[in-house]
Amino acid sequence: MSRRKQIYEGKAKILFEGPEPGTLVQYFKDDTTAFNAQKKEVLNGKGVLNNRISEHFMINLEKIGIPTHFIKRINMREQLIKKVEIVPLEVICRNVAAGSICKMLGLEEGSDLPRSIIEFCYKKDELGDPLVSEEHIAAFNWATADEVDDMRAMTLRINDFLCGMFAAIGIRLIDFKVEFGRRTDENGDFQLLLADEISPDSCRLWDIETNKKLDKDRFRQDLGGVTEAYEEVAIRLGILKKETTSSAPTLSIVPNGDKSS
Ligand code: UDP
Repeated sequence: MSRRKQIYEGKAKILFEGPEPGTLVQYFKDDTTAFNAQKKEVLNGKGVLNNRISEHFMINLEKIGIPTHFIKRINMREQLIKKVEIVPLEVICRNVAAGSICKMLGLEEGSDLPRSIIEFCYKKDELGDPLVSEEHIAAFNWATADEVDDMRAMTLRINDFLCGMFAAIGIRLIDFKVEFGRRTDENGDFQLLLADEISPDSCRLWDIETNKKLDKDRFRQDLGGVTEAYEEVAIRLGILKKETTSSAPTLSIVPNGDKSS
């Protein structure tokens, strides 16, 4: 790791120069932050879980035709990714009211929304990532109208796919946030790619039966058992296996492609 040139350090990830031009290495930290980094903690093993969970989603989304920045997982904490210019917008998709929309519109947490809602927020930590309109996006040139259309369409497709994938393992996808990046591919063609990560840090995930929160709200709301909840998501997705042969249960990573329990 120390050999590599660090390009950027964010709240939960570090980006290093990749082995080839046009690539980067994305390192998942255990650091966990909320409320614009006012609340901080190191949760042992969270980075390892998010690396695997995000890999799982990126691989499966590529299979349904969503272009992503993901190339391959390198090790427990690192992924090789395509270098992109990040669009300075967070795209949020909501199925059920939770978090900021409850505050903004006076909705009760857990109430159904009339349909899935897409929101765009300007990525600016100092301002707390404010909600912005397409008018702002166009006026300040953060993205073109075509890019906005593509981001909305891709996010709705991601939502459909993730809702199905989570429903199959007894989890309700309440909402999630994604980010996109631009690059020019090997043929000189312009591409918009899904970037960053998809993990319990960036989604709200509730157990279908009990409404138990299995995401970063456990950290935000001091509910405890944060890493255990992320582990549970990984176990249900079939990417982590609980061994119960000894008195103390241990967890082991399921190798890629082997989803047997
Ligand atoms: N989210 C995120 N990063 C952010 C803001 C939101 O990953 O900087 C995710 C969050 O985990 C949730 C969804 O986007 O799944 C909607 O978040 P919301 O706007 O309700 O904000 P919050 O209540 O988390 O401040």
